[in-house]
Amino acid sequence: MVNWDDIRGQAAATRLLKGALASGRVAHAYLFTGPRGVGKTTVARIFAAGLVCEGPDGSVRPCGRCGACDDALAFRHPDVVRLEPDGDVIRIEQIRALKRRAGLKPSRGRRQVFLVEPAEAAGEAAQNALLKVLEEPLGPSVFVLIAHQETFLLPTVVSRCVHVRFQRLSREAAAAILRERLGYGDAAELAAALGNGSISQATRFPPEDLRERRSAAVALLERLWASDPGAALEEARNWYERRDELMETLEFVQLWLRDLLICRTRPKSAAEPGRWLINFDRAADISARAERVSGEALFGSLSAIREVRRQLDKNANVRHAVDVLFLELAARGRKAAGPKE
Ligand SMILES: [Zn+2]
Repeated sequence: MVNWDDIRGQAAATRLLKGALASGRVAHAYLFTGPRGVGKTTVARIFAAGLVCEGPDGSVRPCGRCGACDDALAFRHPDVVRLEPDGDVIRIEQIRALKRRAGLKPSRGRRQVFLVEPAEAAGEAAQNALLKVLEEPLGPSVFVLIAHQETFLLPTVVSRCVHVRFQRLSREAAAAILRERLGYGDAAELAAALGNGSISQATRFPPEDLRERRSAAVALLERLWASDPGAALEEARNWYERRDELMETLEFVQLWLRDLLICRTRPKSAAEPGRWLINFDRAADISARAERVSGEALFGSLSAIREVRRQLDKNANVRHAVDVLFLELAARGRKAAGPKE
């Protein structure tokens, strides 16, 4: 059963909420903000369970042992109400229904908890209606608004809430979650690096898919390094219409190049080279390849990729960008293939 110990990398947020549960000084409204996939919904679920928990006085909440905890964590407790968009938006009628509901007595416990996610799905009129609900505390209700993009919230709404900020996860924290809870095994580091601090980003690809995509990306890099300019341009044509796939492939290539560089530059004495690598499930291949590639080729290839990704982020012409990149990689490859200088 999920509980506070399962939350990683959000020390400030969990301290604040655990403190409120322990002291019983619970605010009327909370606003959780932060990027997608860093644990906001999971924390909201645990907090809601803590608020309706029927464990003995003085126990840590949620106790994780009572029926109320069970039901709240599974989102089937009658006093834990989720408000989600109807289609893409949260409508003013939904807010009015929520207000009526908040005026009623809790059906089972001491309080009702309302989770609104994502809060920014409410337009201005709906947010104004929500503001009225927040301004006049109705019964023993606690509101938790969850927002991925707080810039879309009215300042008046934000100011009515205790603001709880969630951070991007460190790579270590994300890798631990992926390894221990999501079954990523030795692909956890790679998924975490691709996720850039967000679990939802990191889990874009299931572990097997991740390994396949990486293999394809590494094969492309090796092919280009071995190409003459004509063959590189020929290869480029395959990518003109595949912008998103190209961006994704380049991410894998970048992480691979990074690992080759680390392997090549680490002191000979450093034990366990694998533990510094993102692709550590392929440590042996990386270490062998790093022996046969120049640092200059690695740095050159990396900076060319970084530059092209930057341009593509700004919607540059894919054709031109991919032609130049692949020619550059082919040129670098002549150095990459040579013996270690
Ligand atoms: Zn409980």
